[in-house]
Amino acid sequence: MLTTNPGFERIGEENAFAVLARAGALAATGKDVINLGIGQPDFPTPENIVDAAIKAMRDGHHGYTPATGIPELREAVAADLDRRFKAQVNPDNVLIVPGGKVTMFTAILMFGEPGAEILYPDPGFPIYRSMIEYTGATPIPIPIREENGFGFSADETLGLISDKTRLIIVNSPANPCGGVTPKVEVDRLVKGLEAHPHVAVMSDEIYDQMLYDGEEHATLLAYPEIRDRLILLNGWSKTYAMTGWRLGYSVWPDKLYDNARKLAVNAWSCVNAPAQFAALEALTGPQDAVAAMGAEFDLRRKLVVDLLNDIPGVSCITPKGAFYAFPNISGTGRKAKVLASELLEGPGVATIGGPDFGTLGEGYIRLSYANSQDNIREALARIKTFLT
Ligand code: PLP
Repeated sequence: MLTTNPGFERIGEENAFAVLARAGALAATGKDVINLGIGQPDFPTPENIVDAAIKAMRDGHHGYTPATGIPELREAVAADLDRRFKAQVNPDNVLIVPGGKVTMFTAILMFGEPGAEILYPDPGFPIYRSMIEYTGATPIPIPIREENGFGFSADETLGLISDKTRLIIVNSPANPCGGVTPKVEVDRLVKGLEAHPHVAVMSDEIYDQMLYDGEEHATLLAYPEIRDRLILLNGWSKTYAMTGWRLGYSVWPDKLYDNARKLAVNAWSCVNAPAQFAALEALTGPQDAVAAMGAEFDLRRKLVVDLLNDIPGVSCITPKGAFYAFPNISGTGRKAKVLASELLEGPGVATIGGPDFGTLGEGYIRLSYANSQDNIREALARIKTFLT
């Protein structure tokens, strides 16, 4: 009889990958499937970035790098945060990691253990809860509500803090709802945290360049009063269409950095060396591809919301960030996961049921509009026909 760490019995999943696999299996049988399930840009990685990786390989960057990342890249991350937010970050606090997920994994592992509580957004990125449960800590959901534009409420979040709370996870712009928490709310959260010096914050800002309608990103880095307990999660996957490169970075306070570095040494040694040179080019090279992708996402956002609101029983507020719409489907009389499954197996449209992002996701489905306008039109026409 083998005995394993019981945490593995509690570990969860990200259903977007199961839907991706099912959509692929259906497509392999000849079914015409439109994928609005997976959250990844449909654009190729910009060419200058690909070229930088090829050059790095040709230049012989084939070996290990420092576990924390190549120094030039850590400096470029700090310079980028300064350029975009006037945030002063010491490159010594920057850790280059293989993907955005790795920062949440590391932070949750660092703070989670039986008896501890960790607050996380619900609906929210499913790996937060999964990893909290793995550690044996108690996951405490922060409700993310449609009436708040799918941003978090500072008062509600602060009200959930107890003396057992170790870590609060926030995410804006957010997956799966596309919500953006207004700066006044972030101000209020930071102010309220003064009374809870025992609580660390992990701010997942991976969609920080995907904002619409003139919204400005309210980074948690802008608050010096919490910098000694703030972990910033960011990366290249979404902004630069680099999901498959597995590249991310985090900013850690001095007192936590070395523990994060040690986990890197134990688990992945370093990030793929050519990918780090690609990441360097992404940050220091021309940014026009980011702007072009953003402009196209904005058009699709309006298109998807208009088409959703034209379907009986469906209503969708206009998301202000990321590339997701989170329509309320309660008027269809169907459970969200049932509807998502019917849409995939029937008309061949992949979406994700809201409950895959938390219990408060019932009554909603997530559509990623990282797909062409033609595909979005066709997918929404199929959904409308199915529901009418
Ligand atoms: N954080 C959020 C909110 C996400 O939506 C995602 C990916 O979907 C990630 C982190 C993980 O990003 P990566 O693919 O770089 O691991």
